[in-house]
Amino acid sequence: MPVLTRLIPSPVVVDIRAGALDDLAGVLADERISQSGKLAIAVSNGSGARLRERLAPSLPGATWYEVGGGTLDDAVRLAGDIKAGHYDAVVGLGGGKIIDCAKFAAARVGLPLVAVATNLAHDGLCSPVATLDNDAGRGSYGVPNPIAVVIDLNVIREAPVRFVRSGIGDAISNISAVADWELAHRVKGEKVDGLAAAMARQAGEAVLRHPGGVGDDAFLQVLAEALVLTGIAMSVSGDSRPSSGACHEINHAFDLLYPKRAAAHGEQCGIGAAFAMYLRGAHEEAARMASVLRRHGLPVLPEEIGFTQEEFVRAVEFAPQTRPGRYTILEHLDLKTPQIKDIYADYVKAIGS
Ligand SMILES: [Zn+2]
Repeated sequence: MPVLTRLIPSPVVVDIRAGALDDLAGVLADERISQSGKLAIAVSNGSGARLRERLAPSLPGATWYEVGGGTLDDAVRLAGDIKAGHYDAVVGLGGGKIIDCAKFAAARVGLPLVAVATNLAHDGLCSPVATLDNDAGRGSYGVPNPIAVVIDLNVIREAPVRFVRSGIGDAISNISAVADWELAHRVKGEKVDGLAAAMARQAGEAVLRHPGGVGDDAFLQVLAEALVLTGIAMSVSGDSRPSSGACHEINHAFDLLYPKRAAAHGEQCGIGAAFAMYLRGAHEEAARMASVLRRHGLPVLPEEIGFTQEEFVRAVEFAPQTRPGRYTILEHLDLKTPQIKDIYADYVKAIGS
């Protein structure tokens, strides 16, 4: 018998709203997550302490683990610490580094992971990928999707606004990433997963077109949902294709060429996406994207995050090497330094100041 529909690995609970953290104990007590209340909770040793103080009384069966940072060693250590605990689930409570550490550790010991995100800096909070620093720089590790995602908009508001801005750049870059995927389909015959592309594109478009700003709950709701849906889009396609194209290659190039000076993930991806849209000849879309990024206080020119024009041109030329095998507008055009310089000058004129 043919399979009538496909099943999508996805969280059993998605709770995104102001005050969501007040009901965290109720979410975790869901019989599909932890009936016994035995939970391993990973928090940062910085801002995590306050959350621990607040939540510990409602989670008496939980054991709290302080995670140092976002390295593979931290994640392996966490897995080693929790493996003897007979836990029902692991909870990652914090920003991207804590959640990625918890994701990896949970996968290693075969437990489900609950992601409780305290900022919206990127689309990794519900994705099947853990990004961790290793001896070779930075690695992406495949892990199961979280079993539950909880985002309290009141907590998000307490995080520095640059985290929200970074999430905006990462979400909007989906539009460019999906355009790259479609290009790869037209030129190389690469298969596009229509559902994953639709989810990622709609997430990007919703953020791009939302009239609100970083201070509104209505906007933060849409942004948080967009980032969660983007993570699930990656599970649907089985890779990062729906959310990572030339935009992310340029971002990786910044990270690799200028590791000490790299800006926030979403700031670099936003610039990469606007420039990639311009490269593909979508000049109006590039200008629109740039104006939305500007409206939210995000950079659209490399100078605004401390890079010269020459450094940016070098990053664009180097970018295809950061993801061998991924076909985007950069691989398609195969531009050399003088051409990138010329197009960049046109881009600067087109997006105005
Ligand atoms: Zn990203």
